[in-house]
Amino acid sequence: MPNDAAEPAAGRHFIRTMIQADLDAGRVRGVVTRFPPEPNGYLHLGHAKSICLNFGVAGEFNGRCHLRFDDTNPTKEEQEFIDAITRDVRWLGFDWGQHLYHASDYFDRLYDWAEHLISAGKAYVDDQTIEQIRESRGTLTEPGRDSPFRGRANAESLDLFRRMRAGEFPNGARVLRARIDMAAGNINLRDPVLYRILHADHPRTGSTWCVYPTYDFAHGQSDAIEGITHSLCTLEFEDHRPLYDWLLDNLPVPARPRQTEFARLNLTHTVLSKRFLTELVKRGTVSGWDDPRMPTLAGVRRRGVPPAALREFVRRVGVARANSVVDFAQYEHAVREQLNRSAPRRMGVLRPLKLVIENYPEGKTELLDAVNHPDDPVAGTRQVPFGRELYVERDDYMDDPPKKFYRLSPGREVRLRYGYLVTCQRAVRDATGALDHLVCTYDPATRGGNAPDGRKVQATLHWVAAATALRAEVRLYDHLFARPDPGAGGDLFADLNPNSLETLADARVEPALAEAHVGEAVQFERQGYFCPDPDSRPGKPVFNRTVGLRDSFAKAKGRGGQAPVA
Ligand code: ATP
Ligand code: MG
Repeated sequence: MPNDAAEPAAGRHFIRTMIQADLDAGRVRGVVTRFPPEPNGYLHLGHAKSICLNFGVAGEFNGRCHLRFDDTNPTKEEQEFIDAITRDVRWLGFDWGQHLYHASDYFDRLYDWAEHLISAGKAYVDDQTIEQIRESRGTLTEPGRDSPFRGRANAESLDLFRRMRAGEFPNGARVLRARIDMAAGNINLRDPVLYRILHADHPRTGSTWCVYPTYDFAHGQSDAIEGITHSLCTLEFEDHRPLYDWLLDNLPVPARPRQTEFARLNLTHTVLSKRFLTELVKRGTVSGWDDPRMPTLAGVRRRGVPPAALREFVRRVGVARANSVVDFAQYEHAVREQLNRSAPRRMGVLRPLKLVIENYPEGKTELLDAVNHPDDPVAGTRQVPFGRELYVERDDYMDDPPKKFYRLSPGREVRLRYGYLVTCQRAVRDATGALDHLVCTYDPATRGGNAPDGRKVQATLHWVAAATALRAEVRLYDHLFARPDPGAGGDLFADLNPNSLETLADARVEPALAEAHVGEAVQFERQGYFCPDPDSRPGKPVFNRTVGLRDSFAKAKGRGGQAPVA
């Protein structure tokens, strides 16, 4: 893939610099990273940033990257999500080899380490409720209050912790807390909860456990067990780093990973949060996790986005420590650039209007050569049938056009792409006055689209032959949220765009598209990039518009977007 010479610096970021320095100074001997999703939803575009970063730096420094399911909360996690995540990381182009792990693989060791902390006087069983614990934790300006159980003897805590594990107590009856400092400036150090009782079956460990470690207790120790050198996570974990380090300092862990935070990816007009995406699925606002409007990897794949476009987008966004919001148009720009290179050109008419060429012989069909890709001669040509009756785009005709509308209107000559020059003679209306079809004449001397006398026509239109066209459903998408900053007004769901999906049930596409496959995007000339949807049935194709041709981002950057023909 050619690099965008304007943005080479996007590749050089502080994490790469840090890793290089660690290697140069001999602080680490190799690079081991991990991508640690919690299997409680599908991956989204934000995760793509984390995946590309973790697998990317590991690859560059000849290290390795683990895929680890952070499956410590059995009440929200499901096998469906594990399968989807595995599929999506692979689709994005990354391979963890044999390094697939689950935090639940470490439950035994984590439990032993919890007992180790208790025996060392660094953890205790607290009989308070979660609400009482939260309420006594203090604030940024006020220290927390000691639990009445903070002074509990180690032996008593150990006994109670073992009985928690044995299932003697109901959910919420007790927790295990670290004994750190209730007056610590960092609230995460005010005796954080390490284990809670949850009588729930786990997708992998079944009914073996009824106590489960918290994220904070599981994460750093899992990193250490796997020999992770660089634990890269998003900025919201910055305040957890002192706890991450405290646990590593106080446990007999086999390695000493280092946590480094980077900014999350945020995009305008959408939400990158599993909590909200789950809600959209549950409410039925979208058809599922892979609805093509969803910013999930499954959604954008179904919509036709190639993984290379996502990797390039993420590379250009770069990695920084300051939070920012990326314009959705920048994402679309990367998708469009990739598809412009890779997608074969086809013709499809979204809103058909019949055009009859009155001087073209009835029953005659010609096969015209059409170019598959203007910049790639190797892609070759295909033949498109031409006949007396065609469909053109309804929007390409006006009775009484304004200045600068060079397309069809009575008396106007236009070029039919790969075909002939035709002149519109008249519009025929039905009894209600609605436009029914156009009657045109063609110039037989203009096959291929050029007049021997060199006369000029301004517009070139796409078309399909009525007799051979396939009827198709086309789904056009717009932003999922109407405002660029969904939720900023207080109610996220009030900001949903009611027009995010438009279904065109009666589009017509050229016969070559009968061979189009799910996952393979094509360009419909002048209309954008489209990809067959899995809802397609034999003889009833359904196309998703991946992205249109108009490029507001390139225009804004003065690069000259690819504008449709006038
Ligand atoms: P969400 O906020 O969507 O629920 P999460 O952080 O809870 O996401 P995890 O499954 O825990 O989801 O995330 C796995 C990894 O992906 C974490 O290391 C997390 O930091 C990273 N990640 C999540 N969202 C983003 C984002 N928007 N940009 C970059 N990385 C992200
Ligand atoms: Mg998380």
